[in-house]
Amino acid sequence: KSGFVTIIGRPNVGKSTLMNHLIGQKIAITSKKPQTTRNRIQTVYTDTDKGQIVFLDTPGIHQAKNKLGEYMVNVAESTLKDVDVILWLVEPSNYIGAGEQHIIKQLDKANLPVILIINKIDTVEKEKVLEYIDTYRKVYDFDEIIPVSALRGNNLDDVIDTIFKYL
Ligand code: GDP
Ligand code: MG
Repeated sequence: KSGFVTIIGRPNVGKSTLMNHLIGQKIAITSKKPQTTRNRIQTVYTDTDKGQIVFLDTPGIHQAKNKLGEYMVNVAESTLKDVDVILWLVEPSNYIGAGEQHIIKQLDKANLPVILIINKIDTVEKEKVLEYIDTYRKVYDFDEIIPVSALRGNNLDDVIDTIFKYL
C-alpha cells in the first residue's frame, strides 16, 4: 500500500513535531513561534511490510493578515487536492471557533477520509480528552479520532496503522 497524507491545522498545534516523530527524524523545523513552517515539506515513511506513506507538513491555516500569510494558507489548503487522506491536528480543547469552522468547510469540499488528531494530550487530564473527542464528533463526521502526544510519541503507531487502513 502507498499514498499521500497531508497534515493540516492551526499554527503551533504540533504538525511539524508530529511529522518528524512519525518519520523518526527531525526534518521540519519546530518552534514555539507560530508560522515556522512556510512551505510544504514532504517526507516518506517506509515500512517493508506495511508500505509507504508520503507526509506533507504544511503551514498553519489561519486568518491571514498579509501576503506571506495568504501564501502560506494557500500552500496548506492546496495540499488537500493532492492527497488520499487528511490528518487534521488540533489542540486538546473544546473551543470550536471561526478557524475550525473554516477548516471544516475545506474538509467538506475535499471529500476524503479525515483523521482527527487531538495532540498534546500530555498537557491535559484523561477525562478531558474524552470530552474533547465528544465535542469534535458533533462538528464533523470524522472517519477516525486519535488522541496523541507528538512530543512524547504516544499513540503514533496507531496513527500509522490507521492511515494504512484508508490507503
Ligand atoms: P506547527 O506550527 O503546527 O508545525 O507546530 P510545531 O510542531 O512547530 O510545535 C509547536 C510547539 O508545540 C513546539 O513548541 C512543540 O514542542 C510543541 N508541541 C508539539 N507537540 C506537542 C505535544 O504533544 N505536547 C506538548 N506538550 N507540546 C507539543
Ligand atoms: Mg510547522
